[in-house]
Amino acid sequence: MTEPPILIVVFEHNLEEALSPGSFEWISSYVSGSADHSTMFNVTATVQEQQLLLRLLNQNKKRLVSSYRPKRAITESSFTLSFLLPVGPLGTQEMAKYNTNNGCSVCGEPAKQKCSRCSTVRYCDAVCQKEDWNGHRSLCNNLQGAKWQNLPFTASNRFGRNVYGVGFNKYDTVEDLRKRVDCMKASDEFTPPPNTHGTTAFIVKIQINSASAKGPAHMLFKGDPSKDGTIFLIYDQRRTVQVTVLREFSEAASFDAVRDVLQAKGERGLKGFFWAIRTGEWSLDICLDRFPEWQKW
Ligand SMILES: [Zn+2]
Ligand SMILES: [Zn+2]
Repeated sequence: MTEPPILIVVFEHNLEEALSPGSFEWISSYVSGSADHSTMFNVTATVQEQQLLLRLLNQNKKRLVSSYRPKRAITESSFTLSFLLPVGPLGTQEMAKYNTNNGCSVCGEPAKQKCSRCSTVRYCDAVCQKEDWNGHRSLCNNLQGAKWQNLPFTASNRFGRNVYGVGFNKYDTVEDLRKRVDCMKASDEFTPPPNTHGTTAFIVKIQINSASAKGPAHMLFKGDPSKDGTIFLIYDQRRTVQVTVLREFSEAASFDAVRDVLQAKGERGLKGFFWAIRTGEWSLDICLDRFPEWQKW
């Protein structure tokens, strides 16, 4: 996957009643310049949006290393250096990478260790782990001796029999989609979904297809009740992992073990939340006898 670009920005924030002399120089250099700057002052953002941008720039400036000194125009010498990440067009998986926080469960700093008893939480050090223990204890105890089922999955963009799945967002054109589908048809190699959870257990939602239900999990064999209960749609809250598991392309016994639990314990037998651990590029372990609290997603 190609990394989205980071936009390096120099900026100055002036209030109308107190424009710095530097700003006048900067404005006049642009107004008198030969390049087309006709859209330069066409600000359509609301004041709240501008304040949000300013806040973001001020936060990001602290995250740049001080040794980094990109070129500036002379009139920009007093400006502040910062950066922005593009918000679109990005795919859902790319967005999810930015939304993923695998830091310490307590303080958010980079985590170096996880709870060795249950693997569901990470910590930066023993101090944070100790501090969290009272809150974490019941979940930790609950997961002791749990039964896990390995569930292999295949690339969700190829189901066989000329059925393809493709992810897209509102910025994609029809032409983009055509290209992606052509690309998929031509290729035999598939990239596994990124592993943003490492070996830490996380919560997944599992849905099973039913001809009489609505939603993406049910669209593939829409209207064919004989195919009911043959597809899982599995994803985490931030969609860093989103896999479609077809019984015929998975291991039937593994699939059925998870399906039995989902149908017995899930909502209307169609969906439920499970603990999962990524155990390989193409496999998940699903916990069959301990369940997370019901989630609102
Ligand atoms: Zn910590
Ligand atoms: Zn634990």
